[in-house]
Order: sequence, then structure tokens, then C-alpha cells
Amino acid sequence: MYQQNPNHGIAGGKDMNKVVKFGGSSLASAEQFKKVGAIIRADKERKFVVPSAPGKRSSDDTKVTDMLYACYELAEQGKDFAGQMQAIKDRYQEIIDGLGLKISLDKEFKGIEKNFKEKAGSDYAASRGEYLNGIIMAQYLGYEFVDAASVIRFKADGEHDAELTNQLLKDRLAGVEAAVIPGFYGAYEDGKVKTFSRGGSDITGSIVARAIKANVYENWTDVSGVLVADPRIIYKPEGVETITYRELRELAYMGFSVLHEDAIFPVRSEGIPINIRNTNAPEDNGTWIVESTCQKSKYVITGIAGKKGFCAVNIEKEMMNSEIGFGRKVLQAFEENEISFEHVPSGIDTMTVFVHQDEFIHKEQKVVSGIHRLADPDSIDIEADLALIAVVGRGMKSTRGTAGRIFSALAHANVNVKMIDQGSSELNIIIGVANADFETAIKAIYDIFVISQI
Ligand code: ASP
Repeated sequence: MYQQNPNHGIAGGKDMNKVVKFGGSSLASAEQFKKVGAIIRADKERKFVVPSAPGKRSSDDTKVTDMLYACYELAEQGKDFAGQMQAIKDRYQEIIDGLGLKISLDKEFKGIEKNFKEKAGSDYAASRGEYLNGIIMAQYLGYEFVDAASVIRFKADGEHDAELTNQLLKDRLAGVEAAVIPGFYGAYEDGKVKTFSRGGSDITGSIVARAIKANVYENWTDVSGVLVADPRIIYKPEGVETITYRELRELAYMGFSVLHEDAIFPVRSEGIPINIRNTNAPEDNGTWIVESTCQKSKYVITGIAGKKGFCAVNIEKEMMNSEIGFGRKVLQAFEENEISFEHVPSGIDTMTVFVHQDEFIHKEQKVVSGIHRLADPDSIDIEADLALIAVVGRGMKSTRGTAGRIFSALAHANVNVKMIDQGSSELNIIIGVANADFETAIKAIYDIFVISQI
């Protein structure tokens, strides 16, 4: 039998660089910092480091980013924020002391307090979490510190300027042996700080990997990679060794959260693989996210994900199929009410539009009358409290009977299937079930593909 290569052929070579991004939980305390230090020192290719702000040390702790937002809110209201700021200082001091470093952040904090008083903005405030952690990390590793505000650029309309950033980073890092670049933020042309959305350090890591043409982007977190299904539904689900960018996008759309959604694009444009790793279990291989692979996934399916809270709007009209433009008119009623649709499976005389219930509920009668006005159907029927489940896998294309197995498993579990939609890519099958059947359905699908394969 041919041997799978868990490291995707990425082994040490000349001039190979890795970008390593560490999430908040990996940097929550001095103890966590030490694990990170050991990981970086264990591989001389780990030369470009992107840290998050310190995260939670325990489940009831507060992330430094959230402390900064709360502290800035006080500053903005003109209230006293000294107590909140002291708590933030303490978090960093604990790390500095625990690492035995001889640095002081007093000067930095003076500047931050001044800027808070001058209402520098909540983006600036939040960004200080990564900025200060970056300074500590650079000192701890003996790497150069590169302020993200000088290399990650946003356009005046707030959109990230990918091309200019790429150029700035390339120029700045040329000839730099090893550097720490804080995650999560950048700046406009005039220097005003702007952050990405929450979890945005993942994006910074990906941007840096693209700029230096890294051979891999390692994203270190507190789980050993992507799991086949949600651990809140399946007890100790299996991990995924390799997943393609496209599979991950399909699953992320349905609620899989491993990586910030936008983190895929920069590395994808260069074909750089992402390796999700666990700081608390560095010996685990984690999950590889790649453009394409000939390595088969362990099971026919790569992952199962889903969401509750959908409505199905069923529209019936005799001879619908021969009426040109019917679908467009129906969808126009949704568009006019600014409702995005998820799926539109159709039959001969029926068409169903799946929408998010919480978005639709306030506008339902407007949409119904809109469909009547625009498309003149025979009847409209709304079904609420539905869930959508995506079964995703590149292996489905070459395996017969996947859909058959899913539906017989669901039938055995007494789950009534309300909708089936298989994308033409044969990469996923979307199934609609009642909210109440959601967990049972996921368990049944997991059992048939994973448990019965072991
Ligand atoms: N610290 C930021 C957050 O909590 C960004 C990140 O961790 O990626 O969202």
C-alpha cells in the first residue's frame, strides 16, 4: 500500500521559512509563552512570528483584547479608566516577570494612556493587545520587532489593501533574518490604526506568509486541528489530517470555526499550505489545509457541519417550469427586502427558498406579498425551524453511493429529510432537517462514515 505523507513533502530545505502564528490562548501566560518559545526554537525555519494578544488563562478569565475594549469605552465616556488600565498592565507584567525578561513597558503604557485620553479610537485601543505582546515576544526570542502599522495597509474605505501591503512587507522584510509582527491590525496611509475583525491575527499570519513566500503557514492554537464534526455534538470526534481550501470554506460557511474566514485568501494565492497545530500538544501533526492533494482522506467524507434556524419558503405554481423568468421574479422579492437566500432547490411546479429565520421573520409578509405581486404563484407556504447540514468531502466524487448511505442512515435514525441539495462540484451534499432532528442527524451521518469505518 502506498504511504501517506503527513507532512506533505514539506521538509527542511535551503532558505525555507515558516510563518508561525500563535493564538491568544497560546500566549495567555508566561507558562504558555515558554511552550511557544520551545516550539519556535525547535525548528530554525520558524523565523517569522505573528502573535495574538494574551487570551484567557482559564474559562472564566477575560481576553486582553476585551479588557482593552472595555477600558477604552470608559476613556471615551470621559470616565476614569486607571483601574482597568492597571489590570491590563498587570497581565503583561506577569508575563514579563514569569519569563525573567528585563524590559519595561512603562513608556509604552504612558503613550497608550495619553492616546486613550485623546480618544484615538477603539481600533487603536484593541490593537495594543497584539502590539505589546509583540514587543515582549521579540525580546524573548531575540527577533526583530516590526510594527504591523508600518506594513499592513488599509484603504480609505476601510478595505484591506492586499497588494500595497504585500509590497510594503516584502520591502521591509528583505534581508531580515527573523522578526515578530503583531497580528490583528494595520494602519491607513496617514498612520491611523485599524484592526481586522475579531480573530484577525489569522489574517496577518497569512499575509506575512504570502509576502515572504513561506513554505508553510503554521497556525498554532489550542486544538490539534480540524475535527470531522462538532465536539459539542459528537463525543471526541476524529481529527482531519488534510483538507482542501475549498472543503474548509464549505464547512466554515456552515459554522466550522478553526480559522478566520479571510485567512485563506492570501496564502491561497501563492499555494502555501496552512498547518493548524496545538501549542499544548506540539507532537501532534495537526491538520493540513492545502490547495489540492492526491492524499485520500481517511473517510469518504472530510467533515460535517451545520446550522439551525432556517425557514423554507415553498412556492407553487402550475407549469412553473415552462415560465421563463419565474425564479428571477421570486428572488427579486427577497432582494427587494434585503434578504439573502441560502439554497434554492426546485421541483417541476415548486421552488423552495431557504433563508435565515431571524432575518426573515420581521419581513415575511412583505416578501410573501412581493412574490405574489412579482411572480403570481398559486400558493406560498412557509416552514420554520429547520436546520441545514453540510456533508463535505473531496472523496465523494469518486465514491459511489455516498448519498445513499447518508439517507439510509438518516432513515434508520428516524430523521425526516426535508431538502437535499448536491452541488455540481460533488464536494458537498446539503441536507435540510427539522431543528429538533439536527443533532440526531449529525450523529447518524458521523456513525455511518466514521464509526463504522474504524
Ligand atoms: N486579539 C484579537 C481578538 O481577540 C485578534 C486575534 O486574537 O486574532 O479577536
